[in-house]
Amino acid sequence: MQAVASPELSPALREFLARPSHQLLIGGKRLDAASAKTFETMDPATGRVLARVAEADAADVERAVAAARQALSGPWSRLSPAERERLLHRLADLVEREAESLAQLECLDCGKTIREAKNGDLPLAAALLRYFAGWPTKIHGETIPVSVPYYPGASFLHYTTREPVGVIGAIIPWNFPLLMAVERLAPALACGNALVLKPAEQTPLSALRLGELCLEAGLPEGVVNVVPGFGPTAGAALAGHPDVDKLTFTGSTEVGREIVKASAGNLKRLSLELGGKAPNIVFADADVEAAAKGLFMGAFYNQGQCCSAGSRVLVERPLFESLTAALVERAKTVRQGPGLNPKTQMGPLVSRQQKERVLGYIEGGVKEGARLLAGGEALAGEGYFVKPTVFSEAKDSMRICREEIFGPVVVVMPFDSQEEAVSRANATDYGLVAGVWTGDVKRAHRMARALKAGTVWVNCYHFVDAAAPWGGFKRSGYGREKSQYAIDLYTQLKSVWVDLN
Ligand code: NAP
Ligand code: MG
Repeated sequence: MQAVASPELSPALREFLARPSHQLLIGGKRLDAASAKTFETMDPATGRVLARVAEADAADVERAVAAARQALSGPWSRLSPAERERLLHRLADLVEREAESLAQLECLDCGKTIREAKNGDLPLAAALLRYFAGWPTKIHGETIPVSVPYYPGASFLHYTTREPVGVIGAIIPWNFPLLMAVERLAPALACGNALVLKPAEQTPLSALRLGELCLEAGLPEGVVNVVPGFGPTAGAALAGHPDVDKLTFTGSTEVGREIVKASAGNLKRLSLELGGKAPNIVFADADVEAAAKGLFMGAFYNQGQCCSAGSRVLVERPLFESLTAALVERAKTVRQGPGLNPKTQMGPLVSRQQKERVLGYIEGGVKEGARLLAGGEALAGEGYFVKPTVFSEAKDSMRICREEIFGPVVVVMPFDSQEEAVSRANATDYGLVAGVWTGDVKRAHRMARALKAGTVWVNCYHFVDAAAPWGGFKRSGYGREKSQYAIDLYTQLKSVWVDLN
């Protein structure tokens, strides 16, 4: 465990990592798994073990759901909205206080660069908490002027209230471990729910630390429970649990389908944020320099492990050669290394399995006849590094153009008309995001209208904010997280009739 002794780590993180095992968080207590099993989480920059973590299975999920249910009838349910607001701000304060050690923890557990963790994940996590801290005092019902056709002249008072949904299960992936946890926790708590969170097996540590910060902030026991473990055991137990009222899932489309089936038993409410295969489209009238940067960042941010990665680049023919060359040049000169090194521009992939998966796609692309312009292989040495890879001369029908690779692989293709760009951009089962680069304001809005995606970025890419809705069209899922629309996901509406006759 070489990283643990590393002097550049913050003292808080060194202390956290030095624990012999990282326990589950259930009902406000740190507990071993009922089975006493543990599993290892790795540092993907070295492939060495980073920490041992208690492995939750169905029995632990049972305990966590019971603790969450119990919390819903405890002091948590009696807090005023203003008190919930204060607690969320206090949690945001703690996340800010711990920003350095949380950012380092993300680098170590999932391979993120310290630059991205410090400038992206951490400030966004705090901002999400503060945004949703503003909501408890603003969640209210309405009075509705009702008419009753079969009771002429009758008078009723009708009003609505918004109540918590109850016990929320959250199953999240490994690409933005802390951010995803906060993105679910913040609205769930703002709306008065209790939460059982299952982080991804590859990256359980920051969610456990967040759970501890929730207790330190003063959240009552059992309001936030964290149960690291594996998808087919802990995840499936949560998805199928009859006393979980709502499940929020982010991950692959295949597992999303399993979640839908598992939720059928008690018809739990669902929101799903699944994969993507986003088009990033550059017209010949675009700002070339800005577009070149945007294409690179769009494809390779977080090593391309983003559901919103701009992995299908479409360039109008007059700019095709120059932009492809710019992308290749950047891909060949990017500095890869351990995320903790401040000079590193691109870290490793999250796991050996993900590295093999991505290399498999690259090999498939070459076999199908696409032309490899940069990368195409792993870095020699330890860790799960894959060189940023650029393909051209690919056909829309190839797997590298259709399937989510979730790694540093981009395909660049020319187009000749706006109509062609739109139809090829939309020719996918996914619909999470799309990017458009153009100097023509009318074209920009026409494209925003025509693209079938939950988010369209114009002359920018990968921008997100707590206030902006996030979610997919088509097989990229349903429900909108973040923003005011998350309040709909984490509350249920009650209709009250009072007879005034
Ligand atoms: P995944 O299997 O969909 O994992 C996402 C989450 O679901 C993890 O917490 C996982 O647990 C859990 N899970 C897995 N099987 C489950 C089941 N049967 N019931 C309940 N929960 C279950 O994704 P992955 O294997 O980590 O990555 C595979 C591919 O999915 C990626 O290459 C990418 O294409 C896509 N993906 C998309 C996103 C996104 O943001 N949209 C994020 C991650 C992955 P464990 O990790 O413990 O198994
Ligand atoms: Mg790890």
